[in-house]
Amino acid sequence: MRLTADVVIIGAGSSGSVLAARLSEDPARKVLLVEAGDWPSDPDIADPLKWPALQGRDYDWAYRTVPQTFTAGRIHEWARGRIVGGSSCLHAMAHVRGHPDDFAAWAEAGGADWSYVALLPHFVRSERFSGPARAGRGTSGPLDVRLPGEDVSPVVRAYMEAGRSIGAPTLTDHNSGPLTGTALNSLTVRDGRRLSLADAYLTEDVRARSNLTILTSTVVEMLDIEGGRVSALRVAGPDGRAEIRAETIVLAAGAVATPLLLFRSGIGDPDVLERADIVPRVPNREVGRNLQDHLLALGNVYRAKRPVPPSRLQHSESLMYLNSQDVRRADGSPDIVLACVVAPSVAPGLEAPPYGSAYTLLFGVCHPTSRGRILPRGPSPSDAPIIDPQYLSTEYDRETFRAAFRMARRVGAQPALDEWRQVEALPGPEVETDQEVDAFIARCASTHHHPCGTCRMGADPDAVVAPDLSLNGVDNLCVVDASIIPRIPSGPINAAVVAIAEAWADRCARPA
Ligand SMILES: Cc1cc2nc3c(=O)[nH]c(=O)nc-3n(C[C@H](O)[C@H](O)[C@H](O)COP(=O)(O)OP(=O)(O)OC[C@H]3O[C@@H](n4cnc5c(N)ncnc54)[C@H](O)[C@@H]3O)c2cc1C
Repeated sequence: MRLTADVVIIGAGSSGSVLAARLSEDPARKVLLVEAGDWPSDPDIADPLKWPALQGRDYDWAYRTVPQTFTAGRIHEWARGRIVGGSSCLHAMAHVRGHPDDFAAWAEAGGADWSYVALLPHFVRSERFSGPARAGRGTSGPLDVRLPGEDVSPVVRAYMEAGRSIGAPTLTDHNSGPLTGTALNSLTVRDGRRLSLADAYLTEDVRARSNLTILTSTVVEMLDIEGGRVSALRVAGPDGRAEIRAETIVLAAGAVATPLLLFRSGIGDPDVLERADIVPRVPNREVGRNLQDHLLALGNVYRAKRPVPPSRLQHSESLMYLNSQDVRRADGSPDIVLACVVAPSVAPGLEAPPYGSAYTLLFGVCHPTSRGRILPRGPSPSDAPIIDPQYLSTEYDRETFRAAFRMARRVGAQPALDEWRQVEALPGPEVETDQEVDAFIARCASTHHHPCGTCRMGADPDAVVAPDLSLNGVDNLCVVDASIIPRIPSGPINAAVVAIAEAWADRCARPA
């Protein structure tokens, strides 16, 4: 079978859903969206409280890292959605644009179009914010962004008060200007249900467009390259193998699968490809490099004096972004983050107090400097990748993590939490020296689920994609997903991924 389109988008995750909806607004453009997974059918996906339980189900790619030297040799599980909606069907629904300064690094890499000011209209266009309308907030976009109210846990209220008592700024929310301070998490939910990017953008009306075709349960196995262009996509779907031809190919398979598909197609560092038994076709040495992720430590756990009521939102209801040198500072990009989970949240291998008897302060680093790598293990789509994030491999990351831990403990000890705190259960008061703290962090630092950067965007010749997101070395191939991020923003990255897709689609709509 052979299919044709003007544009084919690979992956119907956060970015792919936005791209398919926006690009098919032009009825003259024939758009084909190809997704390895199926439409969601598990009712648990819609329930915000069930998000931690979704990992490992059959719509999770369930990647694993290689053992990490600086996290006690542990292998880390990396959930990624294999479903229409992609990782936005599994994620924790926190909507954080990032600090405006975060995008200075993007602008430095790719020019002024990637500054916060240039991206702001795209954030605004995507959002439907439930809070007060004001400049810089979107109120009519497809993606509901809800600020919780009465349903916030009393433990979280006390934790926010504890933040105030150490001098941390209090914010109305994390997307109205400054990021540094404490705020309730804005959530991408509608009527109490998760709103994946597919729910938000691939609405019934959009799916009914005659110029949009969505192929599900169809894996793009590789791209054929001829004369510096992608001549065809080889796919495997429910009806067997097929070939797709298109003028423009947009890779939106996410920070793990996008570099892997490039590798399988012979695009990458020739040495890396040969080691994996893949014939090199287009040298592009940085594919798979520059891998970044946030770690969040699970966690500084407190046994409670009285039963902890279960969360009515998604367990982790507030983030506190701080400057570890000066908690009162409201300006500038934060360097550490704390989060309050209304449950015991502990890493595998550590003993958790029973549910309902404890709460947890998670802690992490906003701008890790460790850089890792994704490599192919072999030429087949079924070959598991080699994922090596090099977690905590820099002194900066280890030192800042220690500062984040000490800040969590400081917040946890505030009188505002006296009515809840019985005793620190983890790591326990005996853990005090830097060495002891480091050992605890190594055992409990876990992914915050934000891998990105593996197809770095930049104006320099070594960048994987150019500032217009076209792949260096192949004429009709672009990457538009979390892989293009040159430097990870301070917080969760889904909002930024959506803005990337909105910005790229907008540029396509403008006359050349
Ligand atoms: C458990 C978890 C919690 C998270 N929590 C948050 C949060 O609270 N807030 C936040 O901002 N971010 C969060 N994230 C991160 C966020 O969800 C991702 O950064 C974002 O969804 C990435 O979007 P993407 O488009 O790059 O990739 P994805 O959304 O992962 O989409 C990629 C799509 O491509 C498909 N695909 C891959 N390979 C192929 C192929 N060969 N052929 C066809 N299709 C293919 C995949 O099946 C998938 O649907 C979380 C993620 C996880 C997993």
